[in-house]
Amino acid sequence: MAVGVSAFFGLQLDLRAQETLCDDICNWLDRQTVSPMSPAQRCFRHHCLNASKLPHAQSDRALFQALSTADCLSPDGMGIVWAARLLGLPVSARVTGIDVMAALMRRFAKMGTRIFLLGAAADVVAGLRDKLRRQYPGLVIAGHHHGYEPDDEKLAAIIRNSEADALFVALPSPRKEMFVHTIAPKTGCRFAMGVGGAFDVLAGKVQRAPVIWQRCGLEFLWRILCQPRAMMPRYASGLWGFAKITVPAIIRYQMRRWQHLLTVPLVSFLLIGLIISRPLSMPVSARTIDRPALVDEDMSVGWLRGRLADMKTADDLDMTISEIVAWIIPEELRSTPDENDATASDDWDAVDGAIKAALVVFETVLKMSGGQSFLIEAVIGGVLARLFDLHPDPARVERLVIATAPNVADTMFGRERNLLFDHSLMSATPFDRGVQPTLGSGQNGPADKDQFGTALPFATKQIVDDFRDENASWGRAESEETAAPFEPEDASPR
Ligand code: UDP
Repeated sequence: MAVGVSAFFGLQLDLRAQETLCDDICNWLDRQTVSPMSPAQRCFRHHCLNASKLPHAQSDRALFQALSTADCLSPDGMGIVWAARLLGLPVSARVTGIDVMAALMRRFAKMGTRIFLLGAAADVVAGLRDKLRRQYPGLVIAGHHHGYEPDDEKLAAIIRNSEADALFVALPSPRKEMFVHTIAPKTGCRFAMGVGGAFDVLAGKVQRAPVIWQRCGLEFLWRILCQPRAMMPRYASGLWGFAKITVPAIIRYQMRRWQHLLTVPLVSFLLIGLIISRPLSMPVSARTIDRPALVDEDMSVGWLRGRLADMKTADDLDMTISEIVAWIIPEELRSTPDENDATASDDWDAVDGAIKAALVVFETVLKMSGGQSFLIEAVIGGVLARLFDLHPDPARVERLVIATAPNVADTMFGRERNLLFDHSLMSATPFDRGVQPTLGSGQNGPADKDQFGTALPFATKQIVDDFRDENASWGRAESEETAAPFEPEDASPR
């Protein structure tokens, strides 16, 4: 007999569909008729496995022995089918004892196989006998006996005397399994199977669950509802024990199974995370430019104070000023400001935020500097000079200084706040460089963008002037390589 089985908690779960199984049983009986084997091997022992029987078998050595050495162990309950499937076993369908028995009756009737019905109440088994004879006219019922006879040997003798070929055992578990396992081979039957309460159902004493309940795996619930006192304790302990055995195994199996599949999305997720966490390379623009040193105020203050502490030469001062200006004004605006470009206006608007951020940092560092404010004043003066020079609306820069950094404004413009630029003129045409700003309310006489330095404090002006060439362009002229080294202490007027 070709047997397809799967290991299932130490048992060999039969994978055959009901029809195939019935065909194989019939073939077995046919072959045994032609060539009988030794009596102990002639009996094909069939058992059913359901959810409550599995935990029982785990704790009952004899029952486990009977089930594990069966010729066929069919998945009787939907719980077994579902658990087996979740454990990756190719269980196609539920194969119940009662359905196998009913299917075999048709075949046995044609084959002339002699059957013996053992179990259930006397009236039930007698009623079943009569019903089967009516239903399957050719069926040979060699004998029947109720299941309330405790002497198994006596039952074995009765069965043997009937010369039955196939034995159906409707006893409660685990007695029916033990009977099939140990007694059936002594009866001369070549096929024996345990069918439990099937006699009650087939005889019409107990109504079987509707098909929809069976398909939904709720047949156990039906039996509980029909026989609550008998079934409730059995299923309560049985299903709990079944869950304790199967659920951890299913979780382990499914985790092993899915961890491979999870690798792909996990790796993809990590890659995406790596990609989006990297700074994106965007076109340089005032709207998108990344100014790391001005993003965080504390970081910027620390950076500037570090630069001031390490400042030894005029080159250091020049570099610091240039870096700050570069953070505030993007390269494209610093190099070729297109005053007729509408987007440039937006870009300069966006620069305001960077100017304010820088001013906040200047204000903080200026307050921290106490009496040693010369260097920071030089830096601020240099940056402002550059901003005034580059910005299409220097008056706007001035207003930002006054509004954002009062100490910087006092230091740079004097406490009188003499304005460097005529706001009425500058704000009307911010990009019209043809209009030269003039000093509005200041006392230092007329000033334009190239003359603002005269309004800066002396020290700042001196340092800034050191770094400006004769054409008022920012930075140290390359030809001035031999200029005198910058000496902050000596140059400070304070
Ligand atoms: N039964 C029996 N002898 C007993 C107790 C019960 O023959 O001493 C019968 C009972 O009438 C029923 C069958 O054995 O027909 C047991 O059915 P059960 O539902 O308990 O078995 P299952 O189908 O759950 O394995």
